[in-house]
Amino acid sequence: MVMPVKFTSFLSKIWLADLFGLFFPNVCVACGRTLNRQEEILCTSCLYKLPKTGFHMHAENLVAETFWGRVELHSAASFLFFSKKGKVQKLMHVLKYKGRKEVGVYLGRLFGTDLKESPLFNTVEMIVPVPLHPKKQRKRGFNQSVMIARGIGEALGVPVSVDNLIRTAYTSSQTKKSRYDRWQNVKGVFSVQDPELFRNKHLLIVDDVLTTGATMEACVHPLLEIPGTKVSVATLASTQA
Ligand SMILES: [Zn+2]
Repeated sequence: MVMPVKFTSFLSKIWLADLFGLFFPNVCVACGRTLNRQEEILCTSCLYKLPKTGFHMHAENLVAETFWGRVELHSAASFLFFSKKGKVQKLMHVLKYKGRKEVGVYLGRLFGTDLKESPLFNTVEMIVPVPLHPKKQRKRGFNQSVMIARGIGEALGVPVSVDNLIRTAYTSSQTKKSRYDRWQNVKGVFSVQDPELFRNKHLLIVDDVLTTGATMEACVHPLLEIPGTKVSVATLASTQA
């Protein structure tokens, strides 16, 4: 039987993809199961079982409450519930420490698709990822928040600003500090290069995980000093919830 050239090259592409998969199996980052050709990053089962918070549809939620009395936000939400040793922690770990940038873009796109449905978030005009200090970014090779912001930006059809909000001081790790110490540690380390770019805009600040909110709060302060800005906050996961 003679097959048309196009069809045979299509078959050889599939064959090559399968052969490639044999040596470099494409596995679900959450559970380790081998992915089929239609699946990307997560297997269908993990994708449907993502522990979504649904916070983006409610003005009052546990993430928004974190900021009450601290900083005036337009809206705040986290995409997923975070639990120690759970699948979400695994996802965050793979994104941050295993160099899997595409996991951030992928999850950002999923979150952005949901945010687009929310009247609280669909007026966002610019996305601002929480900056890493340049030294830390060089060490890691990329900023995970930028990857998440790109995915959200793609879904919302909104630009991402990566170099206007900058981190001016190198801060030590936040993980072992108390809430007060965390705030002291990050207070005043962020500043805006060109306030005109943000003037009169609804900005969405994006980060990977929200813990005490100290870093977010420090980011939001200089942004709210710019006339006419509205600031909202979105993180992939939250330990508050
Ligand atoms: Zn899975």
